[in-house]
Amino acid sequence: MEHWDVVVVGGGPAGAACAAAARQADPSARVLVLDRAAFPRDKVCGDGIAPEALDVLAGLGIDPDGLTDGYASVPRLRLRSPGGTTVERAMHRPASVVPRAVFDGRLLTAALSSGAELRRHTVRRLRVRPGHVEVDDVLTAGVVVGADGAESVVRRAVGVAPNRPAQLAIAIRGYAAVPAGMDGVQAILTTEQRWPAYAWSFPLGDGRANVGYGELVSGGVNRAGLLAGLARLLPGVTVDRLRAHRLPLSTGRPRQPDGRVLLAGDAASLINPLTGEGIFYAVLSGALAGAAAVGGGDAGAAYRRALRQRLGTHLTHSATASWASRWPRGMDAVFRAAADDQRVFDDVVRLGLADGRLTGRTLTTAVRRLR
Ligand SMILES: Cc1cc2nc3c(=O)[nH]c(=O)nc-3n(C[C@H](O)[C@H](O)[C@H](O)COP(=O)(O)OP(=O)(O)OC[C@H]3O[C@@H](n4cnc5c(N)ncnc54)[C@H](O)[C@@H]3O)c2cc1C
Repeated sequence: MEHWDVVVVGGGPAGAACAAAARQADPSARVLVLDRAAFPRDKVCGDGIAPEALDVLAGLGIDPDGLTDGYASVPRLRLRSPGGTTVERAMHRPASVVPRAVFDGRLLTAALSSGAELRRHTVRRLRVRPGHVEVDDVLTAGVVVGADGAESVVRRAVGVAPNRPAQLAIAIRGYAAVPAGMDGVQAILTTEQRWPAYAWSFPLGDGRANVGYGELVSGGVNRAGLLAGLARLLPGVTVDRLRAHRLPLSTGRPRQPDGRVLLAGDAASLINPLTGEGIFYAVLSGALAGAAAVGGGDAGAAYRRALRQRLGTHLTHSATASWASRWPRGMDAVFRAAADDQRVFDDVVRLGLADGRLTGRTLTTAVRRLR
């Protein structure tokens, strides 16, 4: 059987970052990316890309401008709390909105230019042997990285349980003319109905927006319910290309076994439970997994340590905030605090979109607004 140092399953943001990072860590490493889809391919998403995700990719030698060229840079964010408090402010740095059919294709092309190879193949089975991993009886790898998304086959193969329904969201997205008053602003809107649930409108810069609606799987919602939620929060919007997909939310403690099989991105359940943002966590975890993967048999433990060091505090804080956010009055108070104070707003944005923390300033201002 053909042997590779690192096999990456999935060529989305986590897999692309992983391949580039493995080649950066060891330019002689033989790195193969397997994906079941032909690229460029679509991915059901809100298409919002946090600036911190682009920073991670820049660190891997990938030019951010080449990834976002021709699409909107959105300077403002509007948040509506379950109780109806609305805050709109400039973000500390603008976010980008690029359709995933474009972004992921550009990113994978850039990653492959590091010297990794791509092959179209649907992975069905892994066998972990003492010195290597067999992939579908067709090739062997020193290390396999599962970057194969929300329904990860690699995660199942190493016995890591999927998220429980209360830690799994489902969301539907489509494309529409930018809703009235929402040009140049990323809008995230919630209501008390079916809380925690939210809708969004992210403008692409060409008069259209990615719009969508999501809630927790544990609520038992179906497609009709998702469409009803979308119509409730974004009334009068005509949407096409509607598709739904699941979001494995972070629980604060990613489960990464020792050994030669690593999990990154959605396969590792790293989506921010407050906002559904996952691309930053996908590229960051992919980059850390790629750097660890060239280490061979100790890769799992090395990657787990790196992930804890880089993201551990954030993951604990976002899980705590997510738990607290199930109480809508608390959310209202945080949104009012963010309306009062740009620094609280910035802290809340960093907690929801990148590696931020639940700061003392956010907590004390929110407690004051609770009274
Ligand atoms: C409706 C919705 C809206 C969202 N909005 C946003 C947003 O606005 N911003 C944001 O940052 N995040 C958002 N997210 C989350 C974001 O889409 C994910 O976190 C991100 O795509 C994770 O990247 P990934 O590389 O881990 O997985 P994916 O992007 O899912 O890539 C996985 C890849 O693996 C391949 N694959 C799967 N199984 C196999 C197999 N068996 N063999 C070979 N290949 C395989 C797939 O073809 C795919 O290319 C949203 C998610 C949803 C569902």
